[in-house]
Parts: sequence; structure tokens; C-alpha cells
Amino acid sequence: MSKLEIGTPGHSGAIRLLMLGSGELGKEVLLEAQRLGVETIAVDRYEGAPAMQVAHRHHVIDMQDAQALRDLVEQEKPDLIVPEIEAISTTTLEELEEAGHNVIPTARATRLTMDREDIRRVVAEDLGLRTSPYAFAGTKEEFLAAVDQIGVPCVVKPVMSSSGKGQSMIRDAERALDAWEYAMAGSRGKAQRVIVEGFVDFDTEITLLTVRHEGGTSFCAPIGHRQEGGDYMESWQPEPLADSVLKECQKMAEQVTDELGGRGLFGVEFFIDGETVYFSELSPRPHDTGMVTMVSQELSEFALHVRAILGLPIPQITQLTPAASHVILASEDGTAPSFSVDPEPLRTPGTTLRLFGKPTTRPGRRMGVALARGESTDQARQRAETVARGVTVSNAES
Ligand code: AMP
Repeated sequence: MSKLEIGTPGHSGAIRLLMLGSGELGKEVLLEAQRLGVETIAVDRYEGAPAMQVAHRHHVIDMQDAQALRDLVEQEKPDLIVPEIEAISTTTLEELEEAGHNVIPTARATRLTMDREDIRRVVAEDLGLRTSPYAFAGTKEEFLAAVDQIGVPCVVKPVMSSSGKGQSMIRDAERALDAWEYAMAGSRGKAQRVIVEGFVDFDTEITLLTVRHEGGTSFCAPIGHRQEGGDYMESWQPEPLADSVLKECQKMAEQVTDELGGRGLFGVEFFIDGETVYFSELSPRPHDTGMVTMVSQELSEFALHVRAILGLPIPQITQLTPAASHVILASEDGTAPSFSVDPEPLRTPGTTLRLFGKPTTRPGRRMGVALARGESTDQARQRAETVARGVTVSNAES
């Protein structure tokens, strides 16, 4: 293998990483990149975003604006373009890749995964993997037909949305149109389409962090998580799975990530019902439920992502101890929030806290995460929850 040359940030020869999206996950990726001497540039649509606070420099642009994105890439000439969010002009990313830029993991992966319809069709129809039953709709009439076809209970999601926005469940077919209206209000971008998915009454749902690197594909131990309203509340690692179930998840994750190609870490989500594994969705980048790996693994998901995209080897991934994460959410709209932190739960060994430094709040916005190790995942979950409950978010100016 040839040697990796890393210059000095700010000088010719530096490896320049352009992070498109500057949330808490991007912030951790940039911190890991800086540990390896990489020059980091953070981009988002607002000032003061978490990753901007740790980057060498930053830019505020609308990343869905193709021209603005092209101009920025022209100006910064990055070696690595690393999308952190889905709301990016993916046609521009494809053009940039075509012109020789390195988009992580690939421009096609970012395009397919930004639209639930595209990735679902590739996974279920091209690769033939098991998913929940599904149908798509772009009008009220199609929607009612889709609900009729899938049956109730079913889950409705805008094809373009994240963090559970616009997602709801239909239990009573008579009330189906409420879910349509809700999805339209929570939809991102121009696509007014929804996916209607049959409800999977799963025992557990997991994220399998999957790394494509120069030496092949590696997996982290499965992460269990609990979601409310389509957004994650807590996660823990490892989630115990039968050997056959874990193998099946790994096989499916490898098939999907091979199809998408490129290098980097992916968060592949599955529903598990007894021995049956359903593919749910994936992120071609570190996953929010994977924040637990900041305390559970020697190399976190962020460190693994950076190593993979730089072309460095990924050694055996070992989990150090059972661990958990628990989110800290804001409850109202406001700016310049402050945090009142109870120090007592942080006396417990293996506990830690991350506050993201987001400049504004809104109900349900993730502002921080509590992390804990334990002798068991139950103990770790309880510790992380106690730390999280000890943090109150208030707004100086609301
Ligand atoms: P998603 O945004 O697709 O990851 O959905 C968020 C969460 O909603 C999932 O992690 C599940 O907890 C729940 N969910 C989504 N789709 C389904 C489904 N078809 N059946 C059961 N639960 C679901």
C-alpha cells in the first residue's frame, strides 16, 4: 500500500475536507479529521452550527443551490467532499464527482439515500432484500389507494424528510388523510411524495455500523435503539442478537453498501422480528444512534469514518464495554440556550456529556447527548438517562 501524505493545514499539500452540513455528527467527524492533521471546512445554512465551531473555517450557503455549491467547491478545492446531511443538491455532487472530485462515499449513494423512494426501490426491487411492504403516493387519490393496498396499521413518511418530520402512523383507515396532511407539512424539498409502509411489529430495531475501507468491509457490534415519533431517544451497544440473525444483518448490509460503493462508514438500520430481518433504511455516513461508540469503542464511528475515507486501514473493531447514549432535547423555541447541569450523575465512572453548542432551540431539537459505560447495557442506559435528566435547557432570549 502506498503511503498517505498529509500536509500542514493552511499550506499546500494539506488534505482539505469540506463538510457539507455542520451538525453534531459532522462536528465529531471534523474533530477526528483534525487529530490526523486534516484541514477542515464546515458548511451549513446558518452561522454558529456545531461543526463550524471546530473547523478551520466555515461558509454559510444554501447547499441545495447548485451554483452556490459549485462556486464554493471551486473556491475551496477540497480533496474530500463529505456530505453530512441529505438536503444537498445531489445533481451537483454527481457533476462534481464526474469532474474528478471525491464525494464520500459516492455521489450516487448521497442521491439515492436522500429520497426514501430511490433507496427502497434499489434495496427491495434491485437487490431483492426483505423490507416492510410499501407503496408510494404523490396525490391524495394515490395515497388513499396506497393505504388501501398496504392496510392498517401502516406508517406514512414523506420521501424526503429526516428526524421523523412528517412521519405518523395510521391505525384507523378513516383517519388516513390526517397522515397525508401531516406528511405534506413535514416534507423537505419539492417532492410532495410519501411512502406508505406496512407496520412491522418488530422485537428490536438495530443500527449496524458498516465500514467500507481499503481492506474490505467491517462491522461494529449491533446498536439497539428506541425511537419516539421517528427520532431516536436512546441507544445502546451491544444489542444481543442470535448468531444467525447477526449474520443475516451483516450479509444484507454488505450487499447494500457494496451496491452504493465508495469508502466510509454507513449506518444500516434493521427491524428484527424473531428470526426475520427487515432492512429499514441507511445513512451513507455516521448515524445518530452511533454516538454511543464515542464511549463504547476504541475507534468511534467518527474515527472509523475518517480512517476509511483517508484510505487508512481499519483494524479489528473491538467494543470495550457495554455502553449507552441518551439524548438531551430542547422543549421550546428560543435562541442562545443555556444548560443547567447537575454534576451528581457525572460522578459515576464511565459517564460523560456532549453539548453541541447549537445557537437556537425548537421543540424536540437535539441539543446534547449523555453517554455512559456500564457492566451491562441496562446499567449503562440507566446511567446515561440519569445524566441526561440532570441537564435542563433554558433560553436566555426566547
Ligand atoms: P425512519 O425515519 O424510517 O428510520 O423511521 C423512524 C422510526 O419509526 C423507526 O426507527 C421505527 O422505530 C419506526 N418505524 C418506521 N417505519 C416503520 C415500520 N414500517 N414499522 C414499524 N415501525 C416503523
